[in-house]
Parts: sequence; structure tokens; C-alpha cells
Amino acid sequence: MSKKLKIKQKTEAYVSTTNACKLCKPLGACIAFRGIEGTVPFLHGSQGCATYMRRYIISHFREPIDIASSSLSEKHAVYGGGPNLKKGILNVMDKYGAKVVGIATTCLTETIGDNVSGLLKEFKEEFGDKELPTLLNVSTPSYSGTHIEGFHATVRAVIDQLVESETVEPKTSSQSPGVGAGLFTSEQTEKDSSETRPYILNTSKVNLLPGLVSPADIRYLKEVLDDFNCPGTILPDISETLDAPAQMDYEKIPEGGTPIAAIQLMGHSDATIEFGQVLQRTGNSGGQLLAERCGVPLYALGMPIGLRECDRFFEALEEVSGCATPRKHQLERGRLVDAYVDSHKYLFGKRVVVYGEEDLCVGLTAFLAEIGMKIVLCASGGNSGQFQDAINAVTSDIVSEPPIVKEGFDFYEISEEIESLDPDMLIGTSKGYSLTKKQQIPLIRVGFPIHDRFGGQRMLHLGYRGTQNLLDRIVNAIIEKKQADSPVGYGYL
Ligand code: SF4
Repeated sequence: MSKKLKIKQKTEAYVSTTNACKLCKPLGACIAFRGIEGTVPFLHGSQGCATYMRRYIISHFREPIDIASSSLSEKHAVYGGGPNLKKGILNVMDKYGAKVVGIATTCLTETIGDNVSGLLKEFKEEFGDKELPTLLNVSTPSYSGTHIEGFHATVRAVIDQLVESETVEPKTSSQSPGVGAGLFTSEQTEKDSSETRPYILNTSKVNLLPGLVSPADIRYLKEVLDDFNCPGTILPDISETLDAPAQMDYEKIPEGGTPIAAIQLMGHSDATIEFGQVLQRTGNSGGQLLAERCGVPLYALGMPIGLRECDRFFEALEEVSGCATPRKHQLERGRLVDAYVDSHKYLFGKRVVVYGEEDLCVGLTAFLAEIGMKIVLCASGGNSGQFQDAINAVTSDIVSEPPIVKEGFDFYEISEEIESLDPDMLIGTSKGYSLTKKQQIPLIRVGFPIHDRFGGQRMLHLGYRGTQNLLDRIVNAIIEKKQADSPVGYGYL
């Protein structure tokens, strides 16, 4: 039987998934909740789900993470998980003193049909005499989505549940930009402590919704906002909560994260900048909700990787802040252009496969097309129906031969596909390692999860600086491979 025939049979009759090119939907929710100040992520489901997610998050971020669960068993699958959900929240209040509990559903609770919003309402009525944390919830059935969909659904749900349209009033000219992201000045806090209109304290000019990027990326974005003198609220902010300094004692809830008060004021910012070409096409993003509900203008951008997408980000910042791009960033841009020229001889025509979550793939593809690599396959476990369009949007005027784009793919299918594509390298998460080992080609690790290398949480991907890092890694991987394959070894390459 020919190899071609085998693939055909699999495509027609194969109904399972072999090593999915995606992760579980509530896992993305847990990461997003972890980026909100004082929050304990809580899974309404079994302990096994929580254990699986903790394992993945810890292996990438190398940080302890507690994910509470309602610890459901077979009995609850029949009679409903409401009592355990309530008991679990009380336990989290007792053991953690959490300011916020972020509740995500799982496959089990979605299947049995637990009405979490209704249960939380009951909980507030039953325990209204206690000091209750802010309870946020999101629906994340994993059989209908990926970790990145869970992440974005959480960002939108948090905005939906915390930002109210009736509290929105336009800023007056006397309300100047304040001292930092979502911060209150002491003068304002004192003056307004007896009032019930916290929105007038807003100091953020811009809401920044970056998607699932690394803590290093978030730190970089904060630096950029500072350089533009543009106070912003970044949601979520995992820069400290998932990459914290060493502590003498274990902190059950790490410092950092986007303050709830800052989120409540997001409807008063001058603009929202949101990354994600695919996300925008789904019409279901947090930035779109802020625009619809509060009239906050939305800059819907791709991931700022590569010159063009980064230029769009910096242009948006110029418009929002009223400042020109600071010299520091102009220099970084200039150095990146220089590196594009210098690296061209190594990269031009090299065949590359990109896989992972859709928006990161689109961002990487935009960059790889600019540097002259031949993108032969873009594959994702996501199934938004928008991936092809988004890839076309960033490649159509640059590449002569568009890449093959595959949605809803698993690693079995990627492996079958690359047999005939003969790539020089793969770019994606650690999950592609076995493919590159078999093919004897380099793997450039990006995205989530990276659990077979150290420092995934410190990898910078965004901006001119992050693009430069990626470019250096790609070029060096090609040089290293060339050296390894050469009988002579080192030489002037
Ligand atoms: S895929 Fe479903 S069952 Fe599996 S860990 Fe995620 S929520 Fe739990």
C-alpha cells in the first residue's frame, strides 16, 4: 500500500486525535485568571482536570500554581455539582483568603449542564452574611475549543462581569493621565473614598489585551507603555504571577496581576489595543465588547512580530499617546532591519513549518514571510474557520506561493503532511519535538507549552526586540545544523 493511500484512508475514516495540537480549554482560562490580582483559579470539575492543568502550567512557567477544584465524582455527575461548587468556594475563602475566585467549567460540568451563574447567585444569597470574594465565571467546555479559546473567553467574561456600561462617563479635560497602570493617586483616593463613583479615578489611557504571551512579553509591553508615557491596563498581567522572584515563604496567592479596580475602569480608557488576527475575525473578543458596551475605540492588530505588525503597534501607540516613538525603539527597529539584511543569505528559501495556536502562528508567519523563508505549512489544532483568511492577510502581498493552511490538525496529521514537504525546520511548541527528532531538523520553540527547555516564561517574542531574538535563534539554528551536518565542522559560513 502506498504512503499516499494511507493518508487518504486516515482522512476519511479516522475520527480520533493523536497528540492534539492544542490544549484543554479551561487550562487557558486558568492562565488568564492567574493574571488577575488576588485570584485563585477554580475548576468546576474533577481533581484530575486540575492536576493535568497544574502539571502543564508548572512545566512551562516553573512556578507553583494552585488550581482549586470542586472535586466532583461519579455521584455528582448524576446529581449535579452545585453543593461541591459552593463548598469549594468556601474552602478557598477559608484557606486562601482570595479576593477573587475565577471559576471555569470543565467537560464534565458542561455535559451534566450545571448552571454555574445560577449557582453563584444562590451562593451569594446563602452566604451574603460573609465577606465574599469577587466571583468570576466562564464557560469552557474543552470538547468545543482550545486552550487559547478558553483564554480569550475568560478575558471577555471578566470584562463582561466587571465593566458596566452605565458607569461609563466621558473623561473631562481636568482628568489628566495618572501615575501608572490602573493606579489611583492618594489625593484622588482620599477625595473619593465616600463616593460610589470609582470611575472618575481612572488613570489608564489605553487597555492592552495581548492574548497568551509570555511574562517576558508582558514586561516588555509595560516598558513600551512607560516609554510612551502612556498609562495602561494590561489584561491579564502574568508578568509577576507566573514569573515571580524567589520567596522565603510560599505565597499562596502571588503578588501582581491586573487589579480588579483597574478592570472595572476599562470602559473609560481612550482606546483598546488588542492582538490577534484570528481573534478579531471571530467577532467575540474583549476589545470588541469594550467597544460595543462602552464605546472604547479598538485598535485590532495582529501579534506584533515582524516589522510590519510591530510598526502597526507602534503607530497605534503614537496615536493613543500623542507621543512619537521614542528613539530607543526606533534604534531597535533599525537594528532589526540591519539584521534582516545580514541574515538573508542564511534564511532565503529555507522551508519552514509553523504550528500551534492560531494567532501566534499568524504572527510568526507574518514575520517569516518578511525574512524570505518559505512557509510550507501552517497548522493549528484550533478550528475557528478564520485561520486561512488570517494567514492570507499577512502573506498575500509578500509570498509568491501561499503556505498550506490546516485547521483542526493533530500531530499525526502534521507528521503525515511534512513527509512530502521536506522542511528545514519547525517552529512551534515543545510538542513537535518528536517530529523534528525523526526528521533530524531543528525545532525553534515558541508559544505554550515549552516543557523540554528552560526559560519558556522568559522568552520574548513581541516588538522589534522580541522579533530580533526570534531572528537570532532561527539563524543560529540553521548555522548549527549546517555545522553538525558538515564533515569539516566549523568554518566561515
Ligand atoms: S479536556 Fe475536559 S476532561 Fe480533559 S482535562 Fe480538560 S476539562 Fe478535564
